[in-house]
Amino acid sequence: MAGYRPEDDYDYLFKLVLIGDSGVGKSNLLSRFTKNEFNLESKSTIGVEYRAITSAYYRGAVGALLVYDVTRHSTFENVARWLKELRDHTDPNIVVMLIGNKSDLRHLVAVQTEDAKAFSERESLYFMETSALTATNVESAFTEVLSQIYKIVSKRAV
Ligand code: GDP
Repeated sequence: MAGYRPEDDYDYLFKLVLIGDSGVGKSNLLSRFTKNEFNLESKSTIGVEYRAITSAYYRGAVGALLVYDVTRHSTFENVARWLKELRDHTDPNIVVMLIGNKSDLRHLVAVQTEDAKAFSERESLYFMETSALTATNVESAFTEVLSQIYKIVSKRAV
């Protein structure tokens, strides 16, 4: 549309990053949240699990969703590396939500909720278990991060 400027349409613009090992469900969490869609066939290259991301990806981020897969313990073990990389590249006030995704696969759970909760408390992260497949907690996870960011930003503005 001619003359359309997206910056006219909102009061706040926040950059969030979505990180975590390959195959944990990042793309599906995003499509569930933004379009209410899920793709069972989405092919991510499982194999390369942890991969460092360029600093440009992190620059200016005020929130992060750090995702692991509750059915693959290795993806939870890598959370500490993701967190370090995130902290090395972002403002200390960044709001971080740890997300254990694929909570619908109850019979395959390999990461205990209590372990993830304890880790989150030690590292001052918010924590939720989600399912992009059944849409459980997906909206809550995104909106909780946004509302925590909003609290910080609105305090600063005063
Ligand atoms: P990404 O590599 O982190 O972006 O992961 P994807 O979103 O591509 O998902 C990887 C695979 O896991 C796909 O086959 C998805 O269908 C599947 N998946 C993602 N989220 C869920 C979920 O909540 N439950 C189940 N059962 N499968 C999921």
